[in-house]
Amino acid sequence: MSYERHRRLRGHSGLRKMVREHALSVQDLIYPIFVVEGAEQPTKEVPSMPGVYHYSLKYLVEELKEVQRLGIPSVILFGVPTEKDPHGHQAYAENGIVQQAIKVAKETAPELVIMADTCLCQYTDHGHCGVVENGKVLNDPSLNQLVKTAVSQAKAGADVIAPSNMMDGFVEAIRSGLDEAGYEDIPILSYAVKYASSFYGPFRDAAHSTPQFGDRRTYQMDPANREEALREARADIEQGADMLMVKPAMAYMDIMREIKDEFQYPVAAYNVSGEYAMVKAAAQNGWIDEREVVLELLTGFKRAGADMILTYHAKDVAKWLGDDK
Ligand SMILES: [Zn+2]
Repeated sequence: MSYERHRRLRGHSGLRKMVREHALSVQDLIYPIFVVEGAEQPTKEVPSMPGVYHYSLKYLVEELKEVQRLGIPSVILFGVPTEKDPHGHQAYAENGIVQQAIKVAKETAPELVIMADTCLCQYTDHGHCGVVENGKVLNDPSLNQLVKTAVSQAKAGADVIAPSNMMDGFVEAIRSGLDEAGYEDIPILSYAVKYASSFYGPFRDAAHSTPQFGDRRTYQMDPANREEALREARADIEQGADMLMVKPAMAYMDIMREIKDEFQYPVAAYNVSGEYAMVKAAAQNGWIDEREVVLELLTGFKRAGADMILTYHAKDVAKWLGDDK
């Protein structure tokens, strides 16, 4: 016989497990949570994201306890303020929604790694990630706002700062801002490679951050670009990023692999809202097996080089992995 018998290693379920190259673990998960200010209802489901809720501060406590109990190591917090303005002042208000949420999280669930998303789009009335003048998103003036936001989040107790706004120089600006304020030990998870993607639609429902004019293509990346992703990641490392994110995940697994191979830094995959919504919709229609599809997808991200996965499926995955033990 001249051909190789690959099936020899597939015949026994125990042997299949022994030769398995990648395994998804609850330790890989980061759970995104939306916290709303002035909520009338304690929790409200996001219409395009079944199973994802807006939490008022009070109900955030229960949610965090559950996340901790499930063994998920980390959450990333997104604030949804009642007050928005052109400069996004609420992003760095001392008693802003996300600053309050961070404090609650540190008190409630001290074992969790609390990440803060650092951007302005939930806080600006125009919905862009930076300061706008004459219909243009300005780079350098936006950096000042971001630095203030990051420092206020670190001051509130955030364990990791995760800047997502794609202005040039944002990692360097935030790193020096944190250092000057005495937070040199707080790591930065940079949204280094963030594409201008159509998969973000449901998130914008959830975070009330749809741009009121134009789109984000002048600062987020063109989905067609690969070399540019490497340049973005390299620049962020040079500027002081400790971990690199690729966002979205499903259509960009080649980029995760390249970033991992090229830089050997911890890589995070953001399994975004549109990806979540597609799986949920198909599952609700009975067209796919939700559990099997989600586990396959997330294992794929690991195989593609992701060390951690931000996913709205995190709680379900933690339960499923727990059932398998
Ligand atoms: Zn933004």
